[in-house]
Amino acid sequence: MRESWRIAVRDATLLWPKALGYHAPMTPKTPDDPARIAGYHAHIYYDAGSRETAAWLRQVVGERFEAVLGRWHDEPVGPHPISMFQVAFGVEAFAGIVPFLMLNRGGLRILVHPETDNAYRDHAINALWLGEPVKLKLDILPGAR
Ligand SMILES: [Zn+2]
Repeated sequence: MRESWRIAVRDATLLWPKALGYHAPMTPKTPDDPARIAGYHAHIYYDAGSRETAAWLRQVVGERFEAVLGRWHDEPVGPHPISMFQVAFGVEAFAGIVPFLMLNRGGLRILVHPETDNAYRDHAINALWLGEPVKLKLDILPGAR
């Protein structure tokens, strides 16, 4: 790798997590076992203009997958600062639901996070985003930083 690229990569690694308000991920000394993941949540964010798209996505996900659809939250709840509903699903459903959401999110922003014993890490460090991330209220989540 050319030295200038190395510096660019280093700078990007240093800058982007701070820009998004997230902590930089750390490399664990021993691998974290995915068997600790009990299931997943997909949080589907919407606003007044995209509520109809969210309703369509909610319906088709409910029809096609083994998933538990959470209540509509038009008001902020927990770490979620804007309207959303949750889709809870098991480990075995990940490979079906997540690609479906990738292709059918219709511009909605979606957080997919694992369910482990550390809610902070689940949301702040070990999550994946479809679309632009929403700045979550991470400070209220329990768990090790
Ligand atoms: Zn969740």
